[in-house]
Amino acid sequence: MTYLIPRIKPIYPLYRLNSDVFRIGAQIGITTEIEDEEDQFWTLANLLNGKNHLDDIASGMREKYPELTNQDILDGITILNDEGVVEESFPDKTTNDRYIPNINYFSRFIDAHGDRFQVQKKIRDTRIILLGLGGGGSNILALLAGLGPKSITIVDYDRVEAGNLGRQFLYREGDIGKKKVAVAKNAVEKMNSEIEIKAFDKKIVTVEDVLELLNDVDIVVCAIDEPPFIIHRIVNEAIVKAKIPCVFGASQVSRGRVYTVLPGVTGCFDCLNIQFSKNDPKFIEQFVGFRNIHFAPPSIAYGPGIFQLVAGIVDELVRVITNYAPPRSLGTQYEINYEDGSSFCHPSWPRFAAECPTCGEGHYDDWEIFQYYELQE
Ligand SMILES: [Zn+2]
Repeated sequence: MTYLIPRIKPIYPLYRLNSDVFRIGAQIGITTEIEDEEDQFWTLANLLNGKNHLDDIASGMREKYPELTNQDILDGITILNDEGVVEESFPDKTTNDRYIPNINYFSRFIDAHGDRFQVQKKIRDTRIILLGLGGGGSNILALLAGLGPKSITIVDYDRVEAGNLGRQFLYREGDIGKKKVAVAKNAVEKMNSEIEIKAFDKKIVTVEDVLELLNDVDIVVCAIDEPPFIIHRIVNEAIVKAKIPCVFGASQVSRGRVYTVLPGVTGCFDCLNIQFSKNDPKFIEQFVGFRNIHFAPPSIAYGPGIFQLVAGIVDELVRVITNYAPPRSLGTQYEINYEDGSSFCHPSWPRFAAECPTCGEGHYDDWEIFQYYELQE
């Protein structure tokens, strides 16, 4: 591996602790500390300032340390790169100023072998569909507007109500009574005019309702959770048929969950039903008991809680699209606890290619659970 204009990432401070030791970074866990009695690494790190080509760095080093070979100097840069503190400067690459904070964030994860601008470009090339513009979806949409995908298709059938204003920050008092899709489209066009917004005033009831929206879409975000479980099953079947990945989110009172289905790769939502059917003896009793009370929860999870879930959903979407860091919810439920700020992954579930009726070769009749998903009056 060689380098063009390698530099210490500007997101990290470079500073001395004493005459023998210096540090790059100031955050616990990601700070590199180097003991350097001969000052060679300190000299090298200071030459990695984004202004010097590799040749300039080599000659700068040899001025002080004539015994060093080109290979020694390359090895020195590689040692720093392996610590994750070096990147290519890319002086000729530019971006819309609004995306610079994104690119600086991605630079934390991308070393001199990679290209942080490419991560943003992948987002810019992505066409997203967002189902639902309620507590989750409206705030997800604001975050997506900042990220700058190529297009966002929004789908909802509701109107803005006074009760939304405490946690759905896309909407204003003057929007009460208006259709959410219209208000949201208008808001995002003002936030980021680079994004193409398509709005559908529509209630999702059937698999076909979803399928007909999935043309020209790269990824789905499902932010609708009513009727509970049933709607996820409908969306799951559609995205499996269309072979389009989907990030699902759901909020309970003080916890939120994110899980992602990559059709044909990870287990789908019905595979999760099979997993529970196989392993949890109380699964069906619990499911039927819950279903029979027709539980229609009031709006729970206040703004700060919702924001934690929304952040988890949108970051997961970016991970799935760009792989800037490994996704956390592939075939598993990533749970966020608003009470103490913690998060964890549930045990993952596999794809049951032979047994799942939705993403595999199985039959619905083979699994008792699926008969209870019928919509009840
Ligand atoms: Zn499946």
